[in-house]
Amino acid sequence: MFDFVKNRARPEIFTLKPYVPGKPIEEVRRELGLEDVIKLASNENPLGPSPLAMEAAAASLGDLSMYPDANCWLLKHKLAAHLGADAGQILVGNGSDELLMMLAAAFINQGDQVIYGTPTFSGYEFTAKIMGADCLEIPLADFTYDLEAILAAVNERTKMIYICNPNNPTGTIVRKQGIQSFMDRVPDQVLVVFDEAYGEYAESPEFISGYQYVREGRNAIVLHTFSKIYGLAGLRIGYALTSSSIAEAVERIRDPFNVNSMAQAGARAALDDSEHLRRSQELNRQGKEYLYESLTRMGLFHVPTEANFIFLDTGRSCRQVFESLLQRGVIIRCGDVFGYPNFIRVTIGTGEQNRRFIESLTQVLRG
Ligand SMILES: *Cc1c(COP(=O)(O)O)cnc(C)c1O
Repeated sequence: MFDFVKNRARPEIFTLKPYVPGKPIEEVRRELGLEDVIKLASNENPLGPSPLAMEAAAASLGDLSMYPDANCWLLKHKLAAHLGADAGQILVGNGSDELLMMLAAAFINQGDQVIYGTPTFSGYEFTAKIMGADCLEIPLADFTYDLEAILAAVNERTKMIYICNPNNPTGTIVRKQGIQSFMDRVPDQVLVVFDEAYGEYAESPEFISGYQYVREGRNAIVLHTFSKIYGLAGLRIGYALTSSSIAEAVERIRDPFNVNSMAQAGARAALDDSEHLRRSQELNRQGKEYLYESLTRMGLFHVPTEANFIFLDTGRSCRQVFESLLQRGVIIRCGDVFGYPNFIRVTIGTGEQNRRFIESLTQVLRG
């Protein structure tokens, strides 16, 4: 019989690696018969969503029979005021995952080259490969994006460069001066994508957003999400700031109703709750200090982070550590998928969650 998929599917789809999501709490409860499970695997906000966002999402339930605003008018205008930009420079997506997919669909031709660091967020490879790009992965230097090496690899086929800042899974940032010097030399034929999913957590004065390059009129786009510090991962909504001409191009391939009405309402309200944002930053700062101290005391190497997670060396197989922590109801992320078989990535949680993680890890490493 004619093998339809093998012969007729686009060959690109067979080059894709399936995404490995953080294990859901319900799955661990079911499989291990555990009641009390905590998830420190997907960098969600341990405080949950802003109460204002929850109220607004609930208040939008009555509108569910109507299609959402296809243009996210209210949210775009609110974001524009927030960012000091024009509403026409803003894109809203069903998570920043969808924004990455829209960028790839709008700009990548088969055979174009895209460049990003490794290890990093898997969404760049995934979306670029679907469109037939050649992906060039430049190893991190000292756990940090190596912009000089990326620049040296640029050629006439380079279409996009992705910079994950702070980087997932290492939590590192590229320093101000490094970005400036990179932007001074990167050719205008290249679109620079700054993924700042964790930008709100960065504390270092060395962190700068890519916004300034959008404002300077460079070919740049900055991605943000409501999934991380805003605590709305389940609603699926993210946004981008870029030039109005790039935004218009991407709008051409957007699904008409890509962002649902609850997500729009929740996101608008979340932007009003600066107090929740501040509390989330403060909780993260305290948790980071506690985890640094504990890991140092345990003699475990960990990468200093500007995000809400820590990448650390357990000194033994991460699979083993992962399984043992799971038995104790603690879900974390294994470093092997990132090429670090002895590392794990743990989300900074509430004080209680962090203590439970450290106690469990201590037991696991003793055993
Ligand atoms: C979580 C994450 C995203 C995806 O966010 P969504 O808005 O939930 O799709 C994008 N980039 C990075 C680096 C992330 O860690």
